[in-house]
Amino acid sequence: MNLPVSRNPVTQTDAKLVARLKKLVGAPGVLTTPTQLRPYAYDQCWLSIAAAAAGKPLSRPDVVVRPESAKQVSGILELANHRTIPVTPWGGGSGVQGAANADRGGIVIDLRRMNRVRSIDRTSMTATVEAGTLGLDFEKRLNRRGLTFTHLPASIHVATIGGCLAARGSGVISTKYGKIEDHVLSLEAVLPTGEVINTMAVPRHAMGPELTQLFIGSEGTLGVITAARVKIRTQPEARLFRAFTFRRLADGLAAGREIMVTGLRPAAMRLYDRNSAAKVLAEAVKTAIKPQPTLLMTFEGDHPDLTRLEAGKAGKICRAVRGQDLGALPARQWWDNRYVFYYPPYHPKLPMIWGTVDVVMDYARAMGVYRAMCSALKPLAKKHGLVLTPHFSHWYEWGVMLYARCRVHHPPADYEKAVALHDLYFKTALDAALEAGAVLNDHHGVGVRCAPYMERQLGGSFEVLRRIKSALDPNNIMCPGKLALGQASTRRRKSGSARRRSAR
Ligand SMILES: Cc1cc2nc3c(=O)[nH]c(=O)nc-3n(C[C@H](O)[C@H](O)[C@H](O)COP(=O)(O)OP(=O)(O)OC[C@H]3O[C@@H](n4cnc5c(N)ncnc54)[C@H](O)[C@@H]3O)c2cc1C
Repeated sequence: MNLPVSRNPVTQTDAKLVARLKKLVGAPGVLTTPTQLRPYAYDQCWLSIAAAAAGKPLSRPDVVVRPESAKQVSGILELANHRTIPVTPWGGGSGVQGAANADRGGIVIDLRRMNRVRSIDRTSMTATVEAGTLGLDFEKRLNRRGLTFTHLPASIHVATIGGCLAARGSGVISTKYGKIEDHVLSLEAVLPTGEVINTMAVPRHAMGPELTQLFIGSEGTLGVITAARVKIRTQPEARLFRAFTFRRLADGLAAGREIMVTGLRPAAMRLYDRNSAAKVLAEAVKTAIKPQPTLLMTFEGDHPDLTRLEAGKAGKICRAVRGQDLGALPARQWWDNRYVFYYPPYHPKLPMIWGTVDVVMDYARAMGVYRAMCSALKPLAKKHGLVLTPHFSHWYEWGVMLYARCRVHHPPADYEKAVALHDLYFKTALDAALEAGAVLNDHHGVGVRCAPYMERQLGGSFEVLRRIKSALDPNNIMCPGKLALGQASTRRRKSGSARRRSAR
């Protein structure tokens, strides 16, 4: 995968810079030794992990700074901007696209000392939380008060609230409560030039464009998010589970669509195809699962009678397309194990190649996208033993996400060849899905892996993003090259050369 070309001067850790940073955040908050920098050498993208293992880390910070306040972040950015030093924010480093890698060196800002819950407003049901707070810590603090944050990513043990916002993430119960962008009311952020800003206090206003959303998904390119005011709720009174199998995946998809378009809202809904039911679901639940398309649903709410009614109506929809009722157990067991399969001893390890191809599309295209991706990857399955286990999750009124997990258990031992195989399956799957009408992606962000697709996906609006970036970050210090920003767009390059030709 081609990394963006460096333009900014990569800083050498110099005594003067380190002294200034220590003055800003205190000596214990500045890390410079190889041992101290090692944890920042890779995020959870397979490309990052493989590169680090091969002694070619994609992330090479010169210095890591651990601020405790927005004021300290502001001081760091002012200094970096003055000296044109690349800056990369670091949340939990759990991203899977290589976004948090400091691939041009410079300063990494580790936000995890900014981990306070500044306030909880039980009347408005909101909390103001600092960006470096780990998802699980925030959830535990709320749970102690009978409250919950309904953004629960599978990476909750390691991801920060700021990282979830910056990567525009989603959680396992997003089908009922929405993605992270639906949870946030307002943000405190530090601009690349050091100004601390607060966005409008509520997201439903008509005072111009909603600027909070500009920072959601910006992956550190437009500044550092330091705190957010988010929606919270009381823990639900009732939680119910349902599971169904279908003869055909299309029947399960039709049932899921009908559930969503008729206004029912399972908290989680996951439709596994035959292969993933046999290989993934069967591993996650103790109940015997047949290799058949399988739909798991979780319903929850504050009114147990309404929750029962909702689950009952959804069951009726499944039976109407000849779904076979498996009862509650498989879905309950999946719920109980919903995080464990991402962590040791179950998580994938080198030399295996792994990664998810995440696309989202409307219902009209969903089956077509699934078929296109499966058939495009067939030759790679035959030749390289690629195992594809897709499921549909994160449902909307208009469409659904396809979460296609890919694994090659016995890849080439040679690093370059393994990377080439990774890139080949990723490009093959994505090109097929995009050709069939999907959009890249639902919630895993851009990082290094998807940067080459930015312009293709955003079309003419990519230029708008480029202009916003250069207005906010004139010296291009924030994650230069990420989101494919900070390099001339092909559109511009083309029109530039066309202008030069006509001038001649
Ligand atoms: C096992 C596992 C399961 C996962 N499950 C999910 C899931 O269910 N849902 C999901 O959405 N993702 C999931 N992910 C991906 C990952 O956890 C998310 O992308 C998460 O949002 C990253 O948060 P982080 O704090 O680790 O951010 P990082 O990985 O540290 O950073 C991600 C990006 O955000 C930027 N950034 C971080 N903090 C800030 C800040 N305060 N201000 C500005 N920019 C910032 C970084 O520079 C980088 O560009 C999973 C990953 C793993 C390894």
